[in-house]
Amino acid sequence: LAAKMDKKPNEIIMKLMGLGVMATINQTLDDETIELLATEFGYEVEKEVLIDETDFEEVEIDFSEYELVERPAVVTIMGHVDHGKTTLLDSIRNTKVVAGEAGGITQHIGAYQVEVNDKKITFLDTPGHAAFTTMRARGAEVTDIAIIVVAADDGVMPQTEEAISHAKAANVPIIVAVNKMDKEGANPDRVKQELTEFGLVPEEWGGETIFVPISALKDEGIDELLEMILLVSEVEEYKSTPKMPARGSVIEAKLDKGRGPVATLLVQHGTLRIGDSIVVGSTFGRVRAMVNDIGRRVKEVGPSTPIEITGLNDVPQAGDQFIVFEDEKKARAIGEKRYQRYLESQRRESAKVSLDDLFSRIQEGEVKDLNVIIKADVQGSAEALAGSLRKIDVAGVKINIVHQGVGAITEGDVILASAANAIIIGFNVRPDGNARSMAEQEHVEMRLHRIIYNAIDEIESAMKGMLDPEF
Ligand code: GDP
Repeated sequence: LAAKMDKKPNEIIMKLMGLGVMATINQTLDDETIELLATEFGYEVEKEVLIDETDFEEVEIDFSEYELVERPAVVTIMGHVDHGKTTLLDSIRNTKVVAGEAGGITQHIGAYQVEVNDKKITFLDTPGHAAFTTMRARGAEVTDIAIIVVAADDGVMPQTEEAISHAKAANVPIIVAVNKMDKEGANPDRVKQELTEFGLVPEEWGGETIFVPISALKDEGIDELLEMILLVSEVEEYKSTPKMPARGSVIEAKLDKGRGPVATLLVQHGTLRIGDSIVVGSTFGRVRAMVNDIGRRVKEVGPSTPIEITGLNDVPQAGDQFIVFEDEKKARAIGEKRYQRYLESQRRESAKVSLDDLFSRIQEGEVKDLNVIIKADVQGSAEALAGSLRKIDVAGVKINIVHQGVGAITEGDVILASAANAIIIGFNVRPDGNARSMAEQEHVEMRLHRIIYNAIDEIESAMKGMLDPEF
């Protein structure tokens, strides 16, 4: 310190004595004393923050350090368009928003919590699997339980199948809500029958899937549905600890004219408090204000709680992860570094699978299963193709069909492919406009074929490293 200030060590020691600190020449001084001393000599000190590689990784939490307590389940509602997802979310919210909080006005912050039998459940308020899988594609594992809504008068439809594939890819328990039971043509048995093809077999037929008949419009069966969610939660034992700096994911975010960047976060572990220094995706900041789903300002929130915050420097993206750091400077340094990394990664080639480098990646042991999504013009072709692909076995690498369906390749297929690191095979179908641009953006490979044999041959050749180079 003496050298830095161009002083003799003696002068420093004298000054310290004057300040009431009896120091020797090789003594370590604390930050405060150094600052005081420097000011005395007319210098200004700045604290340098050292960050290391591990600060950027999603460092595994060592939960053994903590006593784990129960946390509410986080639920996503999925299903075909018009089958009643929004109505169900509204119905649950209206009937059950945390009792005793009279006067609170529900805010749409992207998620909400209800209380049933003294236990809480958190619902993500964006219905549909696109949001669900976009988040997963960004690395956020937020959902614990998926509710698949199927209209009893309409049965299983293409987006129902997609939703099931998405839930299965995320490996979360599924509860089926058979909706619109009040309608004339309601036929719940048909829904059950159709869903057995997807491995969702009701308990009364010897299976393991919970089916709950409901009418979202007439608020019927909602209590039963919520009780089933609690039942699954009990079996799965969702746990965390409030006793660590918070971590979690961004549910949604926007730029507000008056308040600046506003983000709804789902705290997954720990406790988030006002004033916390936080790194969110590739931005950072300090939590200035927190508002919950009924518009109340709160000072701290624990695991599985959605909360809207202000105080970030920039608008993060849904699915970004956040971590609270005890040291504000550290948060800032990490935030800035992360942003640079983010820019770099944008430039870098993505690590998504493609047929061109499949062989070398199999050789290096990087690829153990090849995930594939099949879209075809008719069900029969999709099945034939899936059947043949499943039989391929090159050097122990197997084909795993993540999803198969009928119709054009959609944006949803691409998002699923991106999350599952899959390639898409189109048989006698093409991608729609959005799907094509999304595939480019997400680096998802799509192969289009008109002859089943060619599709199979291409995959097999790619796995053996015998693909014709020109495409
Ligand atoms: P989403 O596209 O899945 O979000 O579906 P919505 O919630 O928007 O519902 C689509 C339509 O179905 C709306 O007109 C709803 O009023 C109606 N609907 C939803 N649930 C029920 C129900 O339980 N019974 C009846 N009869 N209609 C319903």
